Amino acid sequence: MKSNREEFPILQEKINGQPMVYLDSAATSQKPKAVLESLKAYYEQDNANVHRGLYTLSMRATDAYEAARDKVKGFLNAAERETILFTRGTTESLNWVAQSYGGSHLQPGDEIVLTYAEHHSNLVPWQIVAKQTGAKLRYADLTEKGQVDLVKLAELLNEKTKIVAINHVSNVLGTVNPIQEVTALAHEVGAVVVVDGAQAAPHIPLDVQALDADFYAFSGHKMLGPTGIGVLYGKRELLEEMPPAQYGGEMIEAVGLYESTFQPLPELFEAGTPNIAGAIGLGAAIDYLQDYGFDRLQKEMGTLIEAAQKGLSKIEGLTIYGPTNPAERVGVLSFNLTGVHPHDLSTVLDQYGVEVRAGHHCAQPLMQYLDVSATVRASFYLYNDMEDVQRLIAAVQAAKEFFN
Ligand code: PLP
Repeated sequence: MKSNREEFPILQEKINGQPMVYLDSAATSQKPKAVLESLKAYYEQDNANVHRGLYTLSMRATDAYEAARDKVKGFLNAAERETILFTRGTTESLNWVAQSYGGSHLQPGDEIVLTYAEHHSNLVPWQIVAKQTGAKLRYADLTEKGQVDLVKLAELLNEKTKIVAINHVSNVLGTVNPIQEVTALAHEVGAVVVVDGAQAAPHIPLDVQALDADFYAFSGHKMLGPTGIGVLYGKRELLEEMPPAQYGGEMIEAVGLYESTFQPLPELFEAGTPNIAGAIGLGAAIDYLQDYGFDRLQKEMGTLIEAAQKGLSKIEGLTIYGPTNPAERVGVLSFNLTGVHPHDLSTVLDQYGVEVRAGHHCAQPLMQYLDVSATVRASFYLYNDMEDVQRLIAAVQAAKEFFN
């Protein structure tokens, strides 16, 4: 397995005098030169505002921005480019659906179904819109592996269920939810399914049509792209039933003193100057991932996760959360070491140059469900290699000896 570390300039950085082992890609990924260069090239050669200018430079910026939308369309296998909306990231995408779709469709007594494994970004927006509309939140149980329990989900669904909001991949357990089965069940009762794809987009080839997802949200920065750019995909008929999340420039057709008319999709949802460079950088990230190939990526990630899970589980007192079969896990490995607070463990790992996340990972209800206050999370991406896995295991072993 050939490491492509040299394509990621930041990985040359030293941490506490040691070569960096970056294992927090589920929080944000590092960026390859191709993405960094696309940002620089945009600002150096094409920078102008989009859509409004009739001059050459503005048309170049518009073409580059709209070409990024086409790349996202291909990446998601969406049927139409107009159903791809650029947002600031998954959080903003989910808030738009909750407020615009939920806010205009939910009635008192309606039900929104979530799972216990949702990231706060796919939970708090639903709490708020439930309070605003009088809708109720219901939670679907998880299986031992951490996937949604389809039997329990089917029992929860009824004619009052209007929305099912669910993660595609858990950011704590790395489990993959059976989205196709979820959409089939939800559609039987006429509910729409909102998929939080923040952790899936970096690892799984996506097909929103095959999944039959009504809405799909993800962030650029977790899949080699820049921060501040993300996507909301929605089925056209649903997007057209939603009021825009924001109003202002770019999304209007004509403005009078008391009334205005608006652009069609996708501009309707993109009020104000968008993150043009971000969209272009996301397009470059998609190119990079597609050139790399998801088959290769998944094979390599599988090898790393399996080795990490095997090595870590040999350490006495170490508990790994989620599926016992590493093949059922995508990208992340959460664990705890008996008697050592996750924050302390992560601080010691940092001394060895190993950068991992410790905490509740924005999933406090899942922590309660697992009956832990926090975990240490190592998350892998395509620039990690077997040496990184070995250094993680050695650092955890050293930390254990330090604390004993
Ligand atoms: N959903 C999941 C599953 C995540 O892991 C994250 C980020 O960690 C988010 C949503 C929020 O993503 P962002 O902070 O990019 O909006």
